[in-house]
Amino acid sequence: MIGWSVIRVCDVTPPAELNVPLDRTAPSMARAFLRQTYCDAHHARVLDEAELLVSELITNGIQHGAPPIALRVTCDGSSGLRVAVRDGSPQTPLARDAGPEDDSGRGIALVDMLSTSWGVETSEAGKVTWFTLT
Ligand SMILES: [Zn+2]
Repeated sequence: MIGWSVIRVCDVTPPAELNVPLDRTAPSMARAFLRQTYCDAHHARVLDEAELLVSELITNGIQHGAPPIALRVTCDGSSGLRVAVRDGSPQTPLARDAGPEDDSGRGIALVDMLSTSWGVETSEAGKVTWFTLT
């Protein structure tokens, strides 16, 4: 199993993790989980964008990744809210331009546009796609 990166964590809100169901409720469940677990002491301003981007990552993970899919929400103090989605496929998503009819490239393009930083970490066991918002 691929591990989560070790990062600095704020002392207000502990990291939270959700095992994401592989069905159409997943994006809304992920958004609800994010709202419940994100750090409002540091990152109340970025919640709307974080909800949008987590939906895109979860949708990507279900459409193009492989189970199991997990979501992790971490506050990195004032330097960022970090959201990571882990899945069992080592294939990396492409940040290509996508038209309005093309679901597959749009998610990562949005993450690239709106996040403060993002990336993909792969291993033989799968990958973690993450973004931060400040
Ligand atoms: Zn915090």
